[in-house]
Amino acid sequence: MQFTNSLEFAKDLDANDSLATYRNEFHLINHNGKPCVYLCGNSLGLQPKRVREAIDQELKDWAELGVEGHFRGKNPWLYYHHFLTENAAKIVGALPSEVVIMNNLTANLHLMMVSFYKPTATRYKIMMEAGAFPSDMYAMETQALHHGLNPEDAIIELKPRAGEHTLRTEDILAEIEQHKDSLAIVMMGGVNYYTGQLFDMQAITAAAHSVGAKAGFDLAHAAGNIPVKLHDWKVDFAVWCTYKYLNSGPGGTSGVFVHEKHANKPELNRFAGWWGHDEQARFQMKKGFIPMQGAAGWQLSNAQILPMAAHKASLEIFAEAGIENLRKKSELLTAYLEFILKAFSQHLQIITPADPNQRGCQLSIIVKENGKQLFDFLETQGILPDWREPDVIRMSPVPLYNSFEDVFKIGVALEAYFETWH
Ligand SMILES: *Cc1c(COP(=O)(O)O)cnc(C)c1O
Repeated sequence: MQFTNSLEFAKDLDANDSLATYRNEFHLINHNGKPCVYLCGNSLGLQPKRVREAIDQELKDWAELGVEGHFRGKNPWLYYHHFLTENAAKIVGALPSEVVIMNNLTANLHLMMVSFYKPTATRYKIMMEAGAFPSDMYAMETQALHHGLNPEDAIIELKPRAGEHTLRTEDILAEIEQHKDSLAIVMMGGVNYYTGQLFDMQAITAAAHSVGAKAGFDLAHAAGNIPVKLHDWKVDFAVWCTYKYLNSGPGGTSGVFVHEKHANKPELNRFAGWWGHDEQARFQMKKGFIPMQGAAGWQLSNAQILPMAAHKASLEIFAEAGIENLRKKSELLTAYLEFILKAFSQHLQIITPADPNQRGCQLSIIVKENGKQLFDFLETQGILPDWREPDVIRMSPVPLYNSFEDVFKIGVALEAYFETWH
């Protein structure tokens, strides 16, 4: 599409956007009485208005039924995770039995590593992208230590070529091949939080499997941002949080995917809890763990109803809008942002790949001088991106609640900044 930097053009795109009404489903943040341009959906998604009602329902059942809410609540708490799996599965391209909503992200990452990282004397290495989210780095580091290994030796970090900011798929695949005898697992982000690069999970999984390694992904920045096909790609496991693109509230719950092929493998190591035990026999309170089939067999504790109620409500919006439709709009919205930013390329460098197949909605921008100052200025103008040390501004226009007019306004603010301040 031929873009134009004008308010009229942006408004025209909004008028032709069949998803535009979803913006009304969210509480927009205000700045001086006007809605901000919120660009932090990659960090904490806005609150869907219907979340309050969903949580109120559970509070009401708790108030009126007490413990009986487990059986007689509108959504009986005993089975609560079942109410989320179908819609969650659609987002990650999984069978409902391959998905469970539980715990928090980093805890789930550890649980998955317990099952899928079983180092031997020769095959013990973990491959991840350099500059992964710190929680993932700490998780991998301590997983290696847990098995008596030296993280310096056990962890292979994939680094971009000199002078480049993102990884080339061919280089990732070559590294897998190079470590084919020692590689135990590839554990990467689906989308890197800093650069916004979307990795080719299908190719990476196939390469890992071809050398006898497992492949797992942290989809914190992918879930709800881009459609993925975990089942078809034969990914072994994946984990994600729900408070970023999935708009389920601060500290919200997390999702786990375990491929069907691992659904009934008693030999898989796992750290178990009573909620993962065979549902029919759970309350017999007997010795001897019998896992539920599929991902549900990895549950530890009884469901966290309040954060899961928020997630349930938010997932319904995704089910209605459709992740493929959202992606279509997202590609256009991000392409428009890229077009707007390119007018300032003497001051800004976009480090996120230009290829739409290698990115989600986020663009990461290095400001050549005084990035923090520009960031602070944008905030005064009601534009809310986020700042990541050392030098990146991340902007994530989200198709559910950001508009093309939002993106146009970013250009207006940048013009004001670079004209008056430089
Ligand atoms: C946001 C994010 C986290 C955060 O982990 P929590 O356990 O939810 O606090 C971890 N890993 C990645 C890749 C993230 O983007």
